[in-house]
Amino acid sequence: WVKPFLLLILTEKGTYYALHLGGTYFRILRVHLGGERSYLDVQDVERHPIPSHLMDSTSEVLFNFLAFSMERFIEKEGKESNSQGVKRELAFTFSFPVKHSSISSGVLIKWTKGFEISEMVGKDVAECLQGAMNRRGLDIHVAALVNDTVGALSLGYYHDPDTVVAVVFGTGSNACYLERTDAIIKSQGLLTTSGSMVVNMEWGNFWSSHLPRTSYDIDLDAESSNPNDMGFEKMIAGLYLGDIVRRVIRHMSQVSDIFGPTSSMLSEPYVLRTNSVSAMHEDDTPELQQVARILKDLGVSDVPLKVRKLVVKICDVVTRRAGRLAAAGIAGILKKVGRDGSGGITSGRSRSEMRMQKRTVVAVEGGLYMNYTMFREYMEEALVEILGEEVSQYVVVKAMEDGSSIGSALLVASLQS
Ligand code: ADP
Ligand code: MG
Repeated sequence: WVKPFLLLILTEKGTYYALHLGGTYFRILRVHLGGERSYLDVQDVERHPIPSHLMDSTSEVLFNFLAFSMERFIEKEGKESNSQGVKRELAFTFSFPVKHSSISSGVLIKWTKGFEISEMVGKDVAECLQGAMNRRGLDIHVAALVNDTVGALSLGYYHDPDTVVAVVFGTGSNACYLERTDAIIKSQGLLTTSGSMVVNMEWGNFWSSHLPRTSYDIDLDAESSNPNDMGFEKMIAGLYLGDIVRRVIRHMSQVSDIFGPTSSMLSEPYVLRTNSVSAMHEDDTPELQQVARILKDLGVSDVPLKVRKLVVKICDVVTRRAGRLAAAGIAGILKKVGRDGSGGITSGRSRSEMRMQKRTVVAVEGGLYMNYTMFREYMEEALVEILGEEVSQYVVVKAMEDGSSIGSALLVASLQS
């Protein structure tokens, strides 16, 4: 849940920052706004892997590290980029479930994506970051705490006001959309100034008995750091696809001899990354040399071409399922808001409104979507299949590179007036 941010009428000038804690990477960037709606300059983007020891450290260690990184980022700036003595306004883009109490505060509900700092749960994440930066003597104000999907929606909306849905497919997966305030039961009785509100769905935690869950999914979930949680995310997101493929290969190698003696490495959780899955899936060398190389890294050598082809097929099946489930999720949102050609689940729409199909933009970002072509193609193909050719013409899926961070910085800018 976030406060309505609608009507980003950005006449604001100035420099704004975003610090984004994702599941695998953290990013820091600076944007400059020139006071004209069209003038948005993304000046500096830094992207680093989150050191893995931080994921199960303490909140103090994690936030000290983020503050330290922020300090280094600022030190690199030329003196001209920000006049001395001016407080820097920062958005904290945070890709984990939060219970918001204001635009700039909220407590962590739970960790996902392998993070395990239990003492952090229930703490205000923006306050933790502000505290760490104050301890370093940085003159930075954490002006907004923003879910990554909401950041992506903001950038999408800034470029194109038909953007009503944003989805992230990265290490994890989540979506948000613009809802009519009167259709949100939770908000009844709240004073709102706008007719719409962004709903952060946390769809990674969606579950239904209709989802095609296999024994590999069940085992992956049971052995994860958050069992019985984030069931949808575990079938579609980047952290998990590689591990599903690993489990299938391991099983085949245990019940047959096609992979030779079972490599002990195949039992190591998350050794096979989704990056390697896409590299194998999209291997266009005639002898599937990429597949051979990656299998060798897993302790599986000298498998015949026929078996390498089978591995490509496994990657295809797992990724196709993910892409199609992702598309079903997007179609579900479009149905909820009446943009799937049916008029919507929520009441109060007139007949003429039902028949009129509006152009709808879905902003998408995240490393899985941006870099794994086959995932993207399966998702987009299934979306057309579900919506039908006619309705699909009105639905535009737009990639938003770094959208969550840039959009979060824009939100901070919109708060300045
Ligand atoms: P974060 O989740 O930290 O915000 P990204 O959105 O960049 O970061 O997503 C990173 C994830 O995207 C990686 O962990 C990986 O699962 C997936 N990914 C990145 N590149 C590729 C690729 N070439 N093929 C398949 N998956 C990829
Ligand atoms: Mg992300």
